[in-house]
This record gives sequence, C-alpha cells and structure tokens, in this order.
Amino acid sequence: MQYGKTDDVFHAHGPFSKEAAEACAEADAWLKTLVPWLRARGYAIIIMADHGQHEVTRNNGTTAGAHGSASDLDCLVPLVWLPGVAPATEPCNTSSLQ
Ligand SMILES: [Zn+2]
Repeated sequence: MQYGKTDDVFHAHGPFSKEAAEACAEADAWLKTLVPWLRARGYAIIIMADHGQHEVTRNNGTTAGAHGSASDLDCLVPLVWLPGVAPATEPCNTSSLQ
C-alpha cells in the first residue's frame, strides 16, 4: 500500500510547513487504524518512505519540496518493521487428525 498524500503536500508547501505536519498527522491516524487491523490477522508490517524531501524556495518567496538529489534529506528514510504475530483463532480441534 502507498500513502501518497504526504509527498503531494510536501511538494506543494515544503517538508517543514504546517501543511506537511498536518499530512503526517493524517498518515499517523491512517496507520493507527490499519496496523492493528493487519496485526490482528497475523501480517508482518514494514513501514517506510521511498524517499525524503528537501525544502526549496520559489521565486515568489514561498516554499516547496523536492527530491531526487543525493542529500541526506532526500535519501535517508525511516524504516519500521513489525514482525508478524499469530492471529487470534479458535483452538484447533486435533481429534479429526487421529
Ligand atoms: Zn515526489
């Protein structure tokens, strides 16, 4: 799954803008719902960004975001790995296996 809103907002307003902070809060809220749902079903989860962004200033003085450079801001991204857990199930009836 990809949550692309943060990239769009970072490009439009810059990675250190209040709009970027709000987009990150929305992504956190999405993950707060999604992660427990997936973990309850036994999925391992890897959360990461495909790139970062650095801030640029437009000719009119407003800020925007860009990526594609070799800077740490563009290249270093967080990685969270949550191992899979056994989903909650009913006890297995082994009598039919004998
Ligand atoms: Zn982008």
